[in-house]
Amino acid sequence: MSNEGKALKEKLFNSKKSGWERLSDEELKEIFKFADEYMYYLNSSKTEKEIVQNSKEILLKNGFVDVESKETLNPGDKVFYVNHGRSLYAAVIGEEPLTNGMRIIAAHGDSPRIDLKQNPFYEDGELAMLKTHYYGGIKKYQWTNIPLAMHGTVVKTNGERIEISIGEKDEDPVFTISDLLPHLAGEQMERKLKDGVQGEELNILMGSIPYQDDTVSERVKLNVLDLLNHKYGVTEVDFVSSEIEFVPAFKAKSLGLDYSMVGAYGQDDKVCCYTALRGLLNVEIPKKTAVCILTDKEEVGFNGVTGMCTMIFETFIHELLDKKGENSPSALQKTFSKSKAISADVDAGYDPNYPSAFERNNSSFMGKGLTIVKYTGSRGKSGASEAPSEMVAELRKIYESAGVRYQACELGKVDKGGGGTIALTLANRGMEVVDSGVPVVGMHSPYEITSKYDVYAAYKGYEAFYKA
Ligand code: MN
Ligand code: MN
Repeated sequence: MSNEGKALKEKLFNSKKSGWERLSDEELKEIFKFADEYMYYLNSSKTEKEIVQNSKEILLKNGFVDVESKETLNPGDKVFYVNHGRSLYAAVIGEEPLTNGMRIIAAHGDSPRIDLKQNPFYEDGELAMLKTHYYGGIKKYQWTNIPLAMHGTVVKTNGERIEISIGEKDEDPVFTISDLLPHLAGEQMERKLKDGVQGEELNILMGSIPYQDDTVSERVKLNVLDLLNHKYGVTEVDFVSSEIEFVPAFKAKSLGLDYSMVGAYGQDDKVCCYTALRGLLNVEIPKKTAVCILTDKEEVGFNGVTGMCTMIFETFIHELLDKKGENSPSALQKTFSKSKAISADVDAGYDPNYPSAFERNNSSFMGKGLTIVKYTGSRGKSGASEAPSEMVAELRKIYESAGVRYQACELGKVDKGGGGTIALTLANRGMEVVDSGVPVVGMHSPYEITSKYDVYAAYKGYEAFYKA
């Protein structure tokens, strides 16, 4: 009898087994090798611009060309378009007409960080300091007293773009935001955690040597500006037209005694950028045109010229339709309405330190594979673009056929909080969209954690979706 029950349980229960079980030595080797390549990508791609730049280079090395260089498009052609250097669309043209629909996977390259204000420089206590405005949803106290690197672009009025990257090389200095010592923090410690460190207290320590002329004031600020001027040819007013981001200076590393996880900054959502991109490289001539989107501005609401709401995505698809000789007044809408998309974004992985935030039945767990999130939103699914069950069933079939583990989940307990993704921006264009990505523990912190198994599952799952 006991065997019968066991068999019945196996047949009827959703087993949700760990992906690490019953892997061959070959598979294990593949998973760890892929994770090494992923960590290499992370270390050179800490901002949305670097994601786009490095992804473009990967595409070029793998036979993709700028869509503007093509007169016509045929099945198997591989093209991309870079939008203002901050978002990217790549496509492999399929056998079927575009108007039969596309297979789209969209991830975002921007991550929470500390941006400079446009008038950042000041001096206090004979220290040179920088005013900041954080980007995305962060717990501000997590960003103090850690090494930060300075990345970004200053654009001069003559159009010259100056790229800045300080803090990544071994010989580079780093920066930091100081927090108050516990001895004097009695008052601060009485604040609520969310106000423990406030927005205007996130000021970056930039330098401490005064300019050697004691007849002028603000000599430390002057010295810092002099150093920047010598190295980059910029002045204070040039920062009015700059985008400078401070990101954690530490490198991605294997995490855990068994090397099973990745600890790194920006895995939301660079983990899906990398896996969606690598998956596309394995696509030769798909049935339906396969499209990979690396978008920007997800963390601040999808808007702007490089966010997923931008019409530049429509412009790209129009260009594909034109160059395939398929365009007509209704072609774009038809293409969208027949398309299926994955919003490739991360989910909150179960955290044993905070079990009360999660509902175990519907949480994602590190090591159990790709998430399938049918709806996001908060307080009664508000803000969700819930995926139709038909689309979810199709995705299950694709993942199951490819031997990719998946787990259905939602972000934390009901009414605990919530969040949204770009899924709705695609759904509103008329396509079926489901969220599917990688569980992350410590999301939006300077040091996010993923499982190498899940990273690999995303790569294989996304590849199968493009090819389906
Ligand atoms: Mn995300
Ligand atoms: Mn996020």
